[in-house]
Amino acid sequence: MTVEPMTSREVDAFRERGDAFTRDLMQEYYDHFAGLKDELEIERIYEEYEDLTTLDTARSLEHAPTELWRFACEGFLGNLTRAHQARVAQVETELKATVDGEEIPYRMLRVVTANEADRDRRERLDRERIRLLDEHLNPVYLEASAIDREAVQRLDAPNYYELYKGFGFRLDELAEECRALLDETEKLWEREGDRLFRERLGLSLSEARPWDVGRLLRAPELDRLYPSGGMVPALEATLGDLGIDLRSQANVHLDLEVRPNKTPRAFCAPIEVPGKVMLVIQPIGGKDDWEALFHEAGHTEHYGNTSETLSMEGKRLGDMAVTEGWAMLMQHLVTEPAWLGRRLDVPRVDDLAHEGAVSLLFFVRRYAAKLLYEIEFFQADEPTTMRNRYAEILSDALKLPLYPETYLDDIDGSFYVTGYLRSWAFEAQLRDFLRAEFGNEWFARRDAGDLLRELWSVGQEPTADALLKDVTGARLEMAAVADRVREHL
Ligand SMILES: [Zn+2]
Repeated sequence: MTVEPMTSREVDAFRERGDAFTRDLMQEYYDHFAGLKDELEIERIYEEYEDLTTLDTARSLEHAPTELWRFACEGFLGNLTRAHQARVAQVETELKATVDGEEIPYRMLRVVTANEADRDRRERLDRERIRLLDEHLNPVYLEASAIDREAVQRLDAPNYYELYKGFGFRLDELAEECRALLDETEKLWEREGDRLFRERLGLSLSEARPWDVGRLLRAPELDRLYPSGGMVPALEATLGDLGIDLRSQANVHLDLEVRPNKTPRAFCAPIEVPGKVMLVIQPIGGKDDWEALFHEAGHTEHYGNTSETLSMEGKRLGDMAVTEGWAMLMQHLVTEPAWLGRRLDVPRVDDLAHEGAVSLLFFVRRYAAKLLYEIEFFQADEPTTMRNRYAEILSDALKLPLYPETYLDDIDGSFYVTGYLRSWAFEAQLRDFLRAEFGNEWFARRDAGDLLRELWSVGQEPTADALLKDVTGARLEMAAVADRVREHL
C-alpha cells in the first residue's frame, strides 16, 4: 500500500498540531511532577491527537524534513505502547517493597539504598528492588518490545537500529568512538574508580557490588559544602554575571513552592518554546541537588532564549545533544575550581574537581557501554537472549558485576543515549573554546553571556556537530571527553 506524501500545507498543519500535542504533554508532566495533580493523564492527550500518530500519517511524512518524519514515527510507536507506559508508571507508583519488616515505595528504593550506610542492608534493599523489577516490570517491557519490533517493520525498516540510522543517527561511527574511549580510559577508570571506592566506602573496585554504586556517587560527606539555602542565590548570581536576570524573564517561571507530591528532583518543562518554560525545584541541598538545578537551568535558558521565529522542529525537535550540552555546561560549573572559588566558600576545590572528573568518567563509560549494548539489543531476534549480554557489556566497562535483570529497564528509547554521549563532547569542546576566548572565569563575563544567548537563540535547528563547527571550527569528538576528564586527574 502506498501513501501519498503530504502537501506543504498539510505539513504546516502537522507542525502546528505537533506543537500543540507536545505543549499539552509538557503541561501534563509539569502538573503531575510539580505535585499539582496526582494523576498523569497521558492517554487522554494521545487520544485527542490520535490523527498525528497513525501509520498513514507517519508514512506520508517519509519525504518531509527528517525531524518531522522521526517525530511522526516516534508518535506512531509511542501510541501503540501507551498502555504499557501507563502500566509501568502505575506499577512503579503502587509497588511496595518490604525490607527488614519496613515497607518502602518502589520508587524510593534507589534513594534509600544510596542513603544507607550499612552495606548489608544496602544489599537487601537492592536485591529486593531487582526482584520486584524482574517480577512486575520486565513482563510489561517484553510485551511492549514485541509490539515495537513488529511495528517498526510497518515503517519499512528491518529493526529499530536501522530505523534510527535512517533518521541520520550515526550510530556505528559513534559506537566506534565509544569503543576507543572505553579502551583509552580503561586503566584510568581502574585506578581512579578503585581510589574513589576506597576513599569513600573502604572497598576496592573489585570488591564493589551494584548496591555500592549509588552510595559511592551519593557522597553525603560533600553535602555540607553545598547548602540548600545557597543554591538558588548561587544560580541567580551566576546567570546575573552572564547578563541574565532570572527573576525578570517573563517567559521563565520559577516554581520554588514546597508541595507534598512534588518530585524531589529539579526539572525543566518547556511547555511553550520560548513562551512558557518552567524551572521546578524543591531545594533540599547537597551536591546532587545543586548539579540537578544547574543542569535544568541550562535547559531552561536554552529553551527560554530560543527564537520565536524558528520552525516547530527547530524549537522542539532536532538534536537533543544540543539542549543536553547546554545543560551539561551549566551542571559542570558546580565542580569547576574557578567557579567554586568565586561562588562557594569551600576548602579543597581541587579535590572536588577531581571527584567530579571521576564521576564524569563513570557516567561516560556507562553510557558508552549502553550504546554498544542498545545497538546489539535492537538487532537481536529475541530480546530475552540479551539479558546476560547486557550484564557482560556493562560490567566490563565499569569493572564491577551488574544485574542482568535491568537489561530492559536501562534502555531510554529513541537512542537518547547518543544525546548524552555527544552532549559531554559538546560541553568539553565548547568549554575549551570559552576558556580560550574569555579566560578561565568565562562564566563571569557579560560578553560570554552575549555569545551564549546568541547560540541559544538558534534552538535545535543545527545539530551539536554543526553548532560546534560553526563556533570553534572543530569536529565534535568523544576523545574530547577523555581529555576533559584527565585535566583534573
Ligand atoms: Zn538534561
